[in-house]
Amino acid sequence: MGLSNCPECGKLYVENAARVCPECYRKQEEDAEKVIEYLRDIDKATLEEIHQATGVKHKIILRLLRSGRIMGSEISYPCESCGTLIAEGRLCDKCSKNILDQIKTEERHQEHEKQSVSSKNRSRMYGKFIDTEER
Ligand SMILES: [Zn+2]
Ligand SMILES: [Zn+2]
Repeated sequence: MGLSNCPECGKLYVENAARVCPECYRKQEEDAEKVIEYLRDIDKATLEEIHQATGVKHKIILRLLRSGRIMGSEISYPCESCGTLIAEGRLCDKCSKNILDQIKTEERHQEHEKQSVSSKNRSRMYGKFIDTEER
């Protein structure tokens, strides 16, 4: 337990499980109530609609969504990369595929570099070995 700056308002507070100061925690709980209340009679909504109706920040609605506190309603929110509306994860199918491709390409690249470096080392070591043998 120690003092920490609240990530929401920047004030110093005693660290707790909520990871925000008590004031912000209370505010977040109020926001959560608003969102949950709003969605009680709604099956489908977009992040923007919830924001417009409740005035709650996108960030907080997303956090509620990810922590599983909003259930039973289908919420769509923008892909973090291109803004297409999605209902799960952080990225739309297209962007997550792009990222996977990128990772694969990078891995292949690194693998390639590692191989060329080690073969260079090996020939250098081998060369030295020959040298000492001959002397
Ligand atoms: Zn705070
Ligand atoms: Zn996307």
